[in-house]
Amino acid sequence: MADSPFLIVGGGIAGLAAALGLARIGKSSHILEKAPDFEEVGAGLQLGPNAVQALRWLGAWDAVAPHCVSPAEIQVRDGISGHILQRIPLGETFEKQFGAPYRLAHRADLLNGLLESARSKSSIKLQSGAEVAHVSIAETTLSLNSGKSLKGEAIIAADGVHSEIRKLLIGQPGKNAVGHMLHRGLTPIASVRASVNIDVVTLWLFPGGHVVHYAVSNWRHFNVVAAVEDSEISLWTAFQGACQPLADILDLKINWTKWPARDFDPVRNWSQNRTVLIGDAAHASLPYLAQGAAMALEDAWVLSNAIQTANDLEAAFQKYSGLRFKRTAAIQKRSRQLGKIYHAGGALRHARNVILKATPSTGFLKQMSWIYDWKP
Ligand SMILES: Cc1cc2nc3c(=O)[nH]c(=O)nc-3n(C[C@H](O)[C@H](O)[C@H](O)COP(=O)(O)OP(=O)(O)OC[C@H]3O[C@@H](n4cnc5c(N)ncnc54)[C@H](O)[C@@H]3O)c2cc1C
Repeated sequence: MADSPFLIVGGGIAGLAAALGLARIGKSSHILEKAPDFEEVGAGLQLGPNAVQALRWLGAWDAVAPHCVSPAEIQVRDGISGHILQRIPLGETFEKQFGAPYRLAHRADLLNGLLESARSKSSIKLQSGAEVAHVSIAETTLSLNSGKSLKGEAIIAADGVHSEIRKLLIGQPGKNAVGHMLHRGLTPIASVRASVNIDVVTLWLFPGGHVVHYAVSNWRHFNVVAAVEDSEISLWTAFQGACQPLADILDLKINWTKWPARDFDPVRNWSQNRTVLIGDAAHASLPYLAQGAAMALEDAWVLSNAIQTANDLEAAFQKYSGLRFKRTAAIQKRSRQLGKIYHAGGALRHARNVILKATPSTGFLKQMSWIYDWKP
């Protein structure tokens, strides 16, 4: 069936990005999303220059950019003393260095931008309320909960960290619950005290946890994420002893939602026959480098390039996973390491603080350039 579309399972960031990438190379796709609508939960996302470059290539940046916040810098602070340990300017020099800006987005704004771009393409069919119940890798077919069956040119599994298709390809277990709990929430920016510098991304380091906050939705909302190593204890118990500015953040009127942090150990085999994994389904990482969505966007770019240049789809999928493995595995590993560094107590905390204070921001950016300075 030469004319059948690529079937994309999952209409999150990875699924929509994959469809846009395919549209760019003249391929049609059909996205199947199990939720009744295409939507994202309320929380924020940091978009590094690599994510912005990928969004540009996918043709979605113009729809996303107006809703973003442009932060002045990242500040890393000790959550007990309140001291600023590191400041990374994100202004013009940063943008020039990496060829794209650093931006902050509400997840819904990113998803809506991708959706708007997808809706403008006649080659992309979007179907929500369509849960994929069964996939045949041998036949490149799938069936929906409704009983309907579909045959595709290929199947792209963008079904996230709980991916059932990953289980078919790689087997159990894949999901790795590190035991950390993520508390996430938003509050109107007007409810944030004037003493909080809303222009910056702030990362608070604390023994057994960390907190990140920044403005999103074109300065309308303030996003706070707190990671706690001990998932059994409350947020306030976890951050007992926090300095006043951090305690004030945790006291904000926020409707907190809890998410167990999950990631995978890196694996190489992301495809079999004409079925391939993308996004979190392939390489979920802890969000401590703020790169999961960025990796999904990059995946879509590299996958489209591979499909366009390889002789057949199986070869294209192998080429894509070969090109993506090293980078995504490094993100997975580094994110876990950062959890240990961010959450250090005692002598390790002191040593970390000394090193962070002594490192010039240019040195810090040099260390991060393998992430931000990326081309497919
Ligand atoms: C607290 C937190 C903060 C983060 N911060 C950042 C950040 O700052 N920057 C960044 O780049 N990344 C960040 N990330 C990571 C980022 O959110 C994820 O990597 C990204 O959302 C993964 O997208 P995805 O499309 O692969 O998966 P998902 O968003 O999980 O989408 C999967 C989709 O598939 C659908 N689905 C599943 N099964 C089926 C089925 N059987 N049939 C049909 N549909 C199905 C689901 O309903 C869902 O819509 C963060 C993550 C967390 C938890």
